[in-house]
Amino acid sequence: MNNNNYLIINSGSSSVKFSLYVADHVEATLTGIAERLSTEQTKMSWTFENNKRELELAGADHREVLHNLFNILSKLNLFKSLTAIGHRIVHGGEYFKSSALITPNVLTKIEACSALAPLHNPAAVTGIQAVLEQLPDIPQVAVFDTAFHQTMPEHAFLYGLPYELYESQGIRKYGFHGTSHQYVANQAITKLGLDKNNSGLITAHLGNGCSICAVQNGASIDTSMGFTPLEGVMMGTRSGDIDPSIHQFLANKLNLPLAEITNILNKRSGLLGLSGSSNDMRTLSAKANEGDKQAALAIEVFAYRLAKSIAGMVAGLSRLDALVFTGGIGENSFLVRAKVLSHLTVLGFELDPELNNQGGDNLGLITKANSRRATIIHTQEEWVIAQDTIRLTQTEA
Ligand code: AMP
Repeated sequence: MNNNNYLIINSGSSSVKFSLYVADHVEATLTGIAERLSTEQTKMSWTFENNKRELELAGADHREVLHNLFNILSKLNLFKSLTAIGHRIVHGGEYFKSSALITPNVLTKIEACSALAPLHNPAAVTGIQAVLEQLPDIPQVAVFDTAFHQTMPEHAFLYGLPYELYESQGIRKYGFHGTSHQYVANQAITKLGLDKNNSGLITAHLGNGCSICAVQNGASIDTSMGFTPLEGVMMGTRSGDIDPSIHQFLANKLNLPLAEITNILNKRSGLLGLSGSSNDMRTLSAKANEGDKQAALAIEVFAYRLAKSIAGMVAGLSRLDALVFTGGIGENSFLVRAKVLSHLTVLGFELDPELNNQGGDNLGLITKANSRRATIIHTQEEWVIAQDTIRLTQTEA
């Protein structure tokens, strides 16, 4: 095996996703996930050369999972030949405006951002340390969900709160899904033949988590997620924007602790909460088709709130060349795309139903020739992390 192997690690709050890239090959050679960490059901599965394997790892935490991953890579003769390792890091606070080669100083700053992402950043730090224990000399790169949005101007990232809370507590909009927004915006600029330095896009990343971003001349100038990934548009299980007074009201009425209400907003709301049955758009679309009124209602609210948010986001742009759909829902749900555009005719969008149903023309376009353009672009977050890892470690070599 050659030694141009790059391992990408995405440490979530209760899962670790991983993929192995051979430089410049867009398809990962090995991909896998460990889920339900630190429970009796902890399980790791991976696919290598079309073989899917599974390993029961009851009770394993992030560190143990990574040690098992390194063992697996060793057995496949892929471990010692690793060139570099890239980590997805949820929060880079105001420290990181782009990806960074991990040094002790960078690691300290990632740890300092743990207060802003208490479930995610500590997991990523554990991942980095687990690598340091076994391969102390291998270059590691941090790629941040927040970095792309560090170009937002103050008027976009500040809340209407006492300024002192921004200064003392860091309360501001940070934004997430940055690697995806940046990637699909760049792809759209190239595919649609736009002049990057005079371009305006709205990118809509619609997966289990959803966010939209206003991209002016290739840079993020506003985004829907905020201080945490709970703000913004409605999602699979997250409410998105609600009146902040609801917390206090429910705490009083239902005698619930604030943490429980936050849990409802994160885990039991959104598509799941409104439909009462599923957070999965594919399932809900099938149910709505069969006459399930709650499923249909959940999709209606999802699409309307999304369209409203897109229309609001246009305020930051000096021009609007295209709306870009990406993520599992954005790329696959012709129903959601059609509903969203039907609310946005005032912005000049006219859907081409045929193109929409077939998943776009050769440029991904789903709108009629005279319409403002809307397009589908496939996002590749892991690949972008691999690209940054390669770029930063090659520069340093
Ligand atoms: P992601 O987090 O990007 O993997 O996206 C997950 C979401 O995409 C889930 O709500 C899926 O139901 C949705 N999704 C994936 N495929 C389809 C499809 N063919 N039609 C509708 N929704 C889909």
